[in-house]
Amino acid sequence: MKSKIGVHALVWVGGWSEAESEKAIASTAELGYDLIEIPLLDPANVDAAVTARQLETHGVRPATSLGLGADNDISSTDPEIVARGEATLHDAVRVARDIGATYLGGVLYSMLGKYPGPPTEVGRGNSVEVLARIAETAKAAGITLGLEPVNRYESNIINTGAQALAFIDETGADNIVVHLDTYHMNIEDGDFAAAIEGCGDRLGYFHIGESHRGYLGTGTIDFRTIFRSLAKIGYDKPITFESFSSAVVDPKLSNVLAVWRNLWDDGADLARHAKAFIENEMFVATKGTSR
Ligand code: MN
Repeated sequence: MKSKIGVHALVWVGGWSEAESEKAIASTAELGYDLIEIPLLDPANVDAAVTARQLETHGVRPATSLGLGADNDISSTDPEIVARGEATLHDAVRVARDIGATYLGGVLYSMLGKYPGPPTEVGRGNSVEVLARIAETAKAAGITLGLEPVNRYESNIINTGAQALAFIDETGADNIVVHLDTYHMNIEDGDFAAAIEGCGDRLGYFHIGESHRGYLGTGTIDFRTIFRSLAKIGYDKPITFESFSSAVVDPKLSNVLAVWRNLWDDGADLARHAKAFIENEMFVATKGTSR
């Protein structure tokens, strides 16, 4: 498997001041990760020039992600809220480009949070339309978009890979990929292999997270099957470790992800362990698969 291995910035820092981004990027490089995933929930909070320089200095590649909120949800039926969401996504594409990223993924299609009911047809239609336009802007900026299915408590629009594929087809865009996450798959997909193989070469980004989002291997997820499935489809795009603890808090992201408990307090120890775990699973999957 040739995937680059990444780590989510929330393993290191809860914000993105110059000192925080330096710490996150330097720590990522120190452990030998190829890539850092930088959250762009509020693109204006990221100084792209500073971040680009720090990435260059440390030789780390960026990926970017975000989830929309209640006030900028493009799956809303309120045109003003939808317009705010479209503006956020345009800003995020620009910041992603300016820091040198070629990927923007996550819950780009709805609010990240628990909805009181199922989506409306109009709201879902708004989301498809906006993302079709954002995909064009992204293409001009050299950016691939990824739609991340999340569990039912974090969106009512896309909870599975199959739903993501159908949604992407509706946009008609050829630069939107599926972004799977083992933490969410563990809740919504009964069959990991079928979910991964169902996406095939349209799988463009992959999050590794435990069932409780702590140390890999200390939860209930069957990573052996998952990595063998990735090897089977010839997956060579990034594999990024995602973990959250109350030890590192982003006021905006941590609360919507319901990060209440302290599953670790030493990000470096956690990330060192995760990289070794992922590399071992990649090795086993490759050796154990005849292609
Ligand atoms: Mn994720």
